[in-house]
Amino acid sequence: MDLRYDESQQAFRAELRAWLADHVTRPWTQELRDPANDADALVELRRDFQRELNDAGFLGLDWPVEWGGRGLGPVEKNIFQEETAWADAPPVPNFLGIGLLGPALIHHGSEEQRRRFIPKMLSAEEIWCQGFSEPGAGSDLAGIRCRAEPDGDDFRIHGQKVWTTFGPWADWIFVLARTDPEDRYGGITFFLVPLHQDGVDMRPLRQITGEAEFGEVFFDGALARRAHVVGKLGEGWQIAMTVLAYERGATALLEPAKNDRYLKDLVTGCRENGTLGRPDVRERIARLLADNEVIRANAYRTLATLAAGRAPGPEASLEKLLWTEHARRQSEAAFDLLGPQAQLATRAHHARPEMDWAYEHLWSRAGTIYSGSSEIQRNIIAKRVLALPTR
Ligand SMILES: Cc1cc2nc3c(=O)[nH]c(=O)nc-3n(C[C@H](O)[C@H](O)[C@H](O)COP(=O)(O)OP(=O)(O)OC[C@H]3O[C@@H](n4cnc5c(N)ncnc54)[C@H](O)[C@@H]3O)c2cc1C
Repeated sequence: MDLRYDESQQAFRAELRAWLADHVTRPWTQELRDPANDADALVELRRDFQRELNDAGFLGLDWPVEWGGRGLGPVEKNIFQEETAWADAPPVPNFLGIGLLGPALIHHGSEEQRRRFIPKMLSAEEIWCQGFSEPGAGSDLAGIRCRAEPDGDDFRIHGQKVWTTFGPWADWIFVLARTDPEDRYGGITFFLVPLHQDGVDMRPLRQITGEAEFGEVFFDGALARRAHVVGKLGEGWQIAMTVLAYERGATALLEPAKNDRYLKDLVTGCRENGTLGRPDVRERIARLLADNEVIRANAYRTLATLAAGRAPGPEASLEKLLWTEHARRQSEAAFDLLGPQAQLATRAHHARPEMDWAYEHLWSRAGTIYSGSSEIQRNIIAKRVLALPTR
């Protein structure tokens, strides 16, 4: 495995870094601190920034040019994640469309679907959310009960989805729905469903962080066009596995890059409060720094798989487990080492200017649950990576 970036990848990094220096006029942390920015205003800021990124050719980096991408590879896509995290750039609002549905359409969609959906996904004209989980079907995703009933050439969706990230701002949802009640895996189909129609009720859910960034959605006969079935009827499970592998591993360099910024703030804070010289403090921070390098090394392994033209496999679970558990330890360390200042929320007068540790601490709980909980990742690693015997 050669971990060096070639000349064109280095040139891409330099081009992007220069662009970000010009276009991130205010770091995202500062936007979050601004009391004038309510939740809708923040989404609009993110939408504007996504448009600018797309106009400059920095989105869909690893997608073919004919479908609106730039025709580069997974390495450039990960360079993008690293550079935008280091620059504290606004996160794109269509992360679920670009990160999850886009690859699913490229692997399994029809030509017509790619042409219809990808350009508006990239330009943020249509925001997407993911409708997989249901009450009673999260870890056991194949237990979904939401169903699609034939209606002429098309389908009507009935049922409920929950924990739908970005649902309150989304225009479309990609939904796993049951088309055969008898066949647990082969009876699931992958639909693209517009949210702004009769028969859809999206209700925001408030999170422990105070935001209502996700919602629950109720379908009561919502229309799903036959032309908007991805793959064939009954292929939904297989497509969902592609989506989940991308969710867990395709942007692997993002998290260690974010941690670089967080850990820098931890070191700065300990220097400021005079504790950095203490051996116990140094050891705690050194462990976190070393752990972050382990996460980065694993990210390179996933990246090597992608660069060799293979989809991320079950080893992406290792990556997801490492960074989400690290995020919890990291924010707990900030609470212990920075004291009350770390517990102040972003907009509090004495809050740390560069970091909202209170938010990170609360949000770190979510990481060990979404996209498959830590227990589920351990099950996958045991069975599919280590091939341990199962009962
Ligand atoms: C912030 C956030 C955003 C999310 N966004 C989305 C989204 O956009 N779209 C979407 O579809 N879903 C989303 N989810 C849902 C997420 O995928 C599920 O919460 C997750 O899969 C766990 O399912 P569950 O909540 O039903 O918990 P359950 O499956 O009920 O699990 C409860 C507990 O039991 C454990 N457990 C369950 N089965 C096993 C097992 N076999 N072995 C060992 N332990 C087990 C779990 O680890 C967990 O601790 C989101 C979740 C969160 C927290």
